[in-house]
Amino acid sequence: MNSDTGILIIEDDRNLCSFMTTGLIDNGYHVTPAFTGSEGLRLATSTNPDIILLDLGLPDMDGFDTLKSLQGWSKTPVIVISARSGEEDKVRLLDAGADDYLTKPFGLAELMARIRTRLRRNISDTPSPVYRALDLEIQFDKRRIFLCGEEIHLTQVEYRLLTLLAENSGHVLTYEFIMNAIWGPYIENDNRILRVNMANIRRKIEKDPSHPQYVFTEAGVGYRMPENETPKL
Ligand code: CA
Repeated sequence: MNSDTGILIIEDDRNLCSFMTTGLIDNGYHVTPAFTGSEGLRLATSTNPDIILLDLGLPDMDGFDTLKSLQGWSKTPVIVISARSGEEDKVRLLDAGADDYLTKPFGLAELMARIRTRLRRNISDTPSPVYRALDLEIQFDKRRIFLCGEEIHLTQVEYRLLTLLAENSGHVLTYEFIMNAIWGPYIENDNRILRVNMANIRRKIEKDPSHPQYVFTEAGVGYRMPENETPKL
């Protein structure tokens, strides 16, 4: 079913590479492995993959440099595979244009889920008119939000914040990206205004704001909403 979908894996750890390759082939993907950054860049041009899985720790090139070269000419989504789990690194990666990241060790199910999310985003850029997850529904065109069928009232800023995350659901948005999108580049970047608004949103939509179901915190990185259950147009 996925046989036309090409995935380029740039990973020098041959065990991990063959683990991913086997799993992806079993799921019907077409896989091209590369073991160095330069080989990966070359194959990214010649095979034109639908997704690139990029390991950060490569023998010949720094992962960030590889990512930057890819961003220079390729629109292919990049999922970074990283042994580093520092929050600063994650922020740097997302700001450098990575579409998502997986921290080692990860399971096949998680890898597949991330790939499916990115592929769905590729198929169509036409946003769905409705966001739905569990009991939450956002009707973008009518600017209305429902929780278990009851309408929820948000302030203008809260609404923009929630819809920004919903429109990018399944994707971590960094604090800086959100601050920029909602308040512009000139606001003092201490995130306090963002945290206050997020707390208000959670009070209105989460059953238990300390265990959110709709807006997840990626500690030190940003926020993420679960993927939209409504298929894209
Ligand atoms: Ca490596």
